[in-house]
Amino acid sequence: MEKILLLRYGEIHLKGLNRPFFEHKLVQAIKVAARGFGDTQLEHGQGRFFLSGYDAQREGELIAALRRVFGVHSVSPAAVVASELESVRRGALDVVRAEQSAGGTFKVEARRSNKRYPLNSVQIGADVGGYLLENMQGLSVDVHQPQFRLYVEIRGEKAYLYTHILPGPGGMPLGSAGRAMLLLSGGIDSPVAGYMLMRRGVELEAVYFNSPPHTTERAHLKVKKLAQVLSGYGCPIRLHSVYFTDIQEAIYEKCDTDYMTILMRRFMMRIAQRLALESDCGCLLTGENLGQVASQTMQAMAVTNAVVDLPVFRPLIAHDKTEIVDKAQQIGTFDISIEPYEDCCTVFVPRHPVTKPRLKAVLYEERKLDVEGLIDAALQKSETTLIGGE
Ligand code: ATP
Ligand code: MG
Repeated sequence: MEKILLLRYGEIHLKGLNRPFFEHKLVQAIKVAARGFGDTQLEHGQGRFFLSGYDAQREGELIAALRRVFGVHSVSPAAVVASELESVRRGALDVVRAEQSAGGTFKVEARRSNKRYPLNSVQIGADVGGYLLENMQGLSVDVHQPQFRLYVEIRGEKAYLYTHILPGPGGMPLGSAGRAMLLLSGGIDSPVAGYMLMRRGVELEAVYFNSPPHTTERAHLKVKKLAQVLSGYGCPIRLHSVYFTDIQEAIYEKCDTDYMTILMRRFMMRIAQRLALESDCGCLLTGENLGQVASQTMQAMAVTNAVVDLPVFRPLIAHDKTEIVDKAQQIGTFDISIEPYEDCCTVFVPRHPVTKPRLKAVLYEERKLDVEGLIDAALQKSETTLIGGE
């Protein structure tokens, strides 16, 4: 019996005339995920993809890789048989014997795309269910709360039989919704923000503000590891490490230190926007969350937004910390984020940070600095690394 993987995709259905574009992006992402698993073929039909020809020994590994592809709604390992009823019956018995050898209560869920098939879907379910009961011990039917379901899909000449529907990440295929410049610190939040936008089809580039010797190379390495985890979701990430020390020291020496955080954040935004525009990113992306710390108030966000024109996306704005932590654990960034290496913002943290800054007062402080000169100098001492490329 031929084994294939059946892949479902969700929202792309809704995209009307752009549908071929989204499907193409999804095909590319699936092919990348299946690379190295043998001489695979990918067919497409009726809102599904069918992946065949892979190394059967590594099916579990391949399924795990596909369940990380954005745009994939779910995956089912399926057996393919001819669509004649007799083949469906025998194939169903083989599948159930192999996958549910302990028996149990079950239900057959059948559907057919060919309305000229001699039986309708209810009749197929009843027929196949009856055949299983006659030919295998330990089975009984429970249509309400079965221990397992056997799915039968009749499509043209072929029938697909499977017992598992394994959820994928959903979302949209990577590269279908543009690029973002992620402000990536070593903390818990920003990698999660990055993941959330990737899941909506956005490719990432990242910027890290590095303040040696106030922050160590270990802190920098931590950010590189986070970028590596994110790149594992389908796109290499260019990481810009911007030399931020001189900017922080200049603010510290010349300005009222109660404004330290907000002034730093305005520099970060300006620099991130410059890098974004050079690399075709249409938005900035941060891990900010309303009310979490002094700088994350509406007023502070208004004052940081005031230095940039690109939209600033903050997908975590309304999430509780526990929800963010759960997500970080799920996507594999949490253990790296909690490594104890300091962030540049914590080194220069003011004693009485202004929580509701007024733009006028911030501008007054900023006039004490050569903003453009500091930014040019910082960018000159910056480096870019490609993370997760081939
Ligand atoms: P995170 O957990 O992402 O570090 P946080 O809760 O510590 O966030 P802040 O320190 O106020 O919050 O930072 C808010 C956001 O600013 C971060 O989520 C990140 O997007 C950005 N950011 C802060 N520090 C840096 C840095 N050193 N390099 C790059 N981006 C930074
Ligand atoms: Mg932080």
